[in-house]
Amino acid sequence: MPETPPAVVREPDVYLISHQTVVTPELDRFLANEGFQWDYSDRLPWPAELVVESAGRLCYLSFGTGRSDLTAYVNNILSSRHGSVLEHAVWGFIFTGISRSLTHELVRHRAGMAYSQLSQRYVDESRARFVMPPAIQGHPDEEAIWFKEVAEDLANYMARVERMMAWPEFQAIPSRTERRKMVREAARSNLPNATETMIFATGNARAWRNIIELRVSGHAEAEIRRLQYKVAQALLGEAPHIFGDYEFVALADGTFEAHTENVKV
Ligand SMILES: Cc1cc2nc3c(=O)[nH]c(=O)nc-3n(C[C@H](O)[C@H](O)[C@H](O)COP(=O)(O)OP(=O)(O)OC[C@H]3O[C@@H](n4cnc5c(N)ncnc54)[C@H](O)[C@@H]3O)c2cc1C
Repeated sequence: MPETPPAVVREPDVYLISHQTVVTPELDRFLANEGFQWDYSDRLPWPAELVVESAGRLCYLSFGTGRSDLTAYVNNILSSRHGSVLEHAVWGFIFTGISRSLTHELVRHRAGMAYSQLSQRYVDESRARFVMPPAIQGHPDEEAIWFKEVAEDLANYMARVERMMAWPEFQAIPSRTERRKMVREAARSNLPNATETMIFATGNARAWRNIIELRVSGHAEAEIRRLQYKVAQALLGEAPHIFGDYEFVALADGTFEAHTENVKV
């Protein structure tokens, strides 16, 4: 067994690392050069939405004409399923306190998403934390059994690393980094799905909407539902018109489900 018991994570952390900005002098230069008069000053608190609206207005050269209200403009994009303009607005998050099973589900979302995930080959997992599934939390007997199991898994990982590092074929590899990588890639087979990982996930508004609809759902797994609800809340603060059509309905387990009329825009 490890000298110190492994740490348990019960809640994910969501860090909004990057978000949309607008280069307004360039937007102004474009508008002036093309002879448009468009006062977008009330849009400045929501740069992502200004980007989306600019892309949408370019299609019809409707700068300063047509729907002037931002809510009406974005609602029309959503209801008419003009979803491609949503792809111009992008946000990047770091997620921690999430399991490898969650990221296996997350990375299935391909269109409009980019991922960079902690490498179990390069990074030593002997101090890994383990994410307790929401369903087990609050059941002391089951929690204790689960904790014993992940501690054993971690002990097996560490023991395998120690044994294999001493093998002559690995000792013969001159690069210490290379040697460790080869041993860890074998030893990680002992680590459970509950092993904590970290991932940097960047996506555009259309892609995040698809994830919210599929994962902030009673059909989705509880851990990813809980995570993506936090993402939805962060995005709502960033772009209240693009994500404001979701109604979040409480489920029996305390998580939420997102409902909208504008599915898969
Ligand atoms: C509740 C739930 C249970 C699931 N269970 C399983 C399971 O048991 N086994 C399993 O393997 N997966 C399962 N999945 C994963 C699921 O099948 C999808 O892979 C995942 O939800 C990503 O959705 P997506 O393809 O819409 O996302 P993205 O890959 O981001 O695609 C977004 C959209 O772009 C379009 N698109 C993307 N790629 C293509 C393409 N190649 N061709 C045509 N159109 C494309 C589609 O309209 C798609 O909906 C489950 C998902 C959920 C939510």
